[in-house]
Amino acid sequence: MRIACIGAGPAGLYLAILIKLRDPNTEITIFEQNPAGVTHGWGVVFFNDMVEALRKNDPVTADKILDQSFEWVGQILDMEGSPPLRGLGGGFSIGRQQLLDILTARAAALGVKIHFEHKITDASRLPDADVIVAADGASSRLRQLKADRFETQISEGRNRYVWLGTTKIFNNFTFGFAPTKAGWIWFHAYGFSQQMSTLIAECSSDTWTGLGFDRLGRDESLACLECIFEHHLAGHRLISKANADKGLPWLTFRWVKNIKWHADNIVLVGDSAHTTHFSIGSGTQLAIQDAISLATNLQAHTDVQAALKAYETERQHALLQPCKKAHLSAQWFESIPRYIQLDPSHFFTLLLSRRSPIVPLLPPAIYCQLDRITNKTQVLRKLRSLAATLYYERQRT
Ligand SMILES: Cc1cc2nc3c(=O)[nH]c(=O)nc-3n(C[C@H](O)[C@H](O)[C@H](O)COP(=O)(O)OP(=O)(O)OC[C@H]3O[C@@H](n4cnc5c(N)ncnc54)[C@H](O)[C@@H]3O)c2cc1C
Repeated sequence: MRIACIGAGPAGLYLAILIKLRDPNTEITIFEQNPAGVTHGWGVVFFNDMVEALRKNDPVTADKILDQSFEWVGQILDMEGSPPLRGLGGGFSIGRQQLLDILTARAAALGVKIHFEHKITDASRLPDADVIVAADGASSRLRQLKADRFETQISEGRNRYVWLGTTKIFNNFTFGFAPTKAGWIWFHAYGFSQQMSTLIAECSSDTWTGLGFDRLGRDESLACLECIFEHHLAGHRLISKANADKGLPWLTFRWVKNIKWHADNIVLVGDSAHTTHFSIGSGTQLAIQDAISLATNLQAHTDVQAALKAYETERQHALLQPCKKAHLSAQWFESIPRYIQLDPSHFFTLLLSRRSPIVPLLPPAIYCQLDRITNKTQVLRKLRSLAATLYYERQRT
């Protein structure tokens, strides 16, 4: 079998590794637009389930990734003007570049041909292949060419965000919030090596224009963010990979959904098939799980169309919950004015519960009261009494 894959991100590279491990005779060629060793973004988090999946499918790669990973412990809310609050949890993180370097070296060692600086804009420019894999990310060119067949749906989030690096090491997953004259701005930060952390700054579009980020150059924007987050950064700098002559690459989150994940012999994997908001930190893991499923189904079925259909069914089902959680989490951050005036401990409770469908439905104070109750019978009793209170209040007004 011959496979052509567009994109040397986590999805394309891990797929190539698995295909070669399972059948060394399969020819697989990757075309990547960037030069080797160049990518966007900083560190990404991942959790135990990804470690297990990596170990099960390729222990060699799993060990290398874990060797270069950073382990962060717990979550912190650091709201300017209040003492930091600590929550449970933990996970790993790794520089996106380190991750891609590990995957690239492993794929090349297994015989995958990788052509860097080779942008594919038209499927007719690809060599003959039984399967063409569109692993070219959220703005997939290959997907756009057949958008009607994939029934692609794109929408944009309301907030602005920018993905930055910093030399300040966040040993805990930290949510930092700071008030400004134009509204609240916050960040999601975590270490990904002993030298560097990721810091994603986020705010509403009104705050973004109010602070002048639509007009400021890269260095002025970084200086402005360093000043706003001075208390959190403790003198450390913020770093962007963007060219100095361009502004800071603030984006709105791009939601990608496809009703169909394959058309003829083209199949979507990773972000070209689906995106999940960065605030749930699982896009890389989901891209890798797509690769595992596609490799498994291509091996299990002799008929390519049957393999692609089985892959599509399996992964669309698996994506239902993560996509729901990602939307709830993104909406929570888009509704900060609803929560920001609460007592910080209540605010933190809601931040940690942001993936719950109940959070947007209940008044925040009531959700916090319910959250404190551990006994289920008590919860039901409390819910009944709250429902009755709400009913009588409505009757009165
Ligand atoms: C701010 C932010 C933070 C994130 N944090 C996390 C996190 O903590 N944890 C996590 O799991 N996920 C995180 N993600 C999501 C994660 O980065 C993506 O889900 C993941 O990279 C998807 O992998 P992929 O291989 O599908 O696509 P990508 O990583 O986007 O790779 C696509 C590749 O295709 C190449 N390409 C594109 N077009 C062409 C073309 N026409 N020809 C040739 N090559 C092409 C690109 O150069 C790129 O190398 C984050 C995303 C963002 C935006």
